[in-house]
Amino acid sequence: MDLKAINNLPEHNGSEALMPLLFVGHGNPMNAILQNEFSLGWQQVAKALPKPVAILCISAHWETEGTFVTAVDKPRTIHDFYGFPKELFNVEYPAPGNITLAEETKSIITATKVESDFNWGLDHGCWCVLKHLYPLADFPVIQLSLDYHKSPEMHYELAGELSSLRKKGVLIIGSGNIVHNLGLISWHDNQEYEWVAEANEKLKQLITSNDHRKLMAYKQLGNAVQLAIPTPEHFLPLLYILGLKNENEQISFFNDKTELGSISMTSLKIGY
Ligand code: ZN
Repeated sequence: MDLKAINNLPEHNGSEALMPLLFVGHGNPMNAILQNEFSLGWQQVAKALPKPVAILCISAHWETEGTFVTAVDKPRTIHDFYGFPKELFNVEYPAPGNITLAEETKSIITATKVESDFNWGLDHGCWCVLKHLYPLADFPVIQLSLDYHKSPEMHYELAGELSSLRKKGVLIIGSGNIVHNLGLISWHDNQEYEWVAEANEKLKQLITSNDHRKLMAYKQLGNAVQLAIPTPEHFLPLLYILGLKNENEQISFFNDKTELGSISMTSLKIGY
């Protein structure tokens, strides 16, 4: 699929014609090869989505100095984790890239300089989820990096500049976790901490009420949210999805459960 196909798609004015947006809680990399309630949730949400022309993924696992977009024909599958079974390292997600879409993405973002990247591929925040959304790997995928020098507000504003891609049938996915504290993870005891439920509910309420300002100022949301977001990278992909949302668009939550004690898998679809 080249950008000719993307450009040839008619643009529509009504928000009902916009490609929906996804924020996906990815959690444990093992979800890529497990059939569980989370992978089932991903499979089901994909069935209800219009067929995308291409996919743009913003993953918690690609942080850079400056903002980059993958610009390769065949992005490699990056196994960016340790201590997992060989079976997981053997997984490949051979989706094509799309250099023309990468160029288009660079050109529509004006508030910040976006550069092409030729070394990154698809990290596990991206392919673990796509493996279930689109198991045939038949749609082109590009990734946009998270500049670790940018404030939440800057990420949110940058996201807004991607809106024309939705009109062209590009599915934009943010992949992270709204509650993600690896220091407090429990591999054996799946009991949920009280602060996890509190933070998850508070963040969901702010998402539902479109209170994006408060979400950007998440450091001021109290102790539970502080514990939920000890570092920003798993939370920031959510701000990309919210930065692209029109006020009246519907939000539907799915996979709204905890895994490993301190990770909430809460995911959301925005749009029809
Ligand atoms: Zn992660």
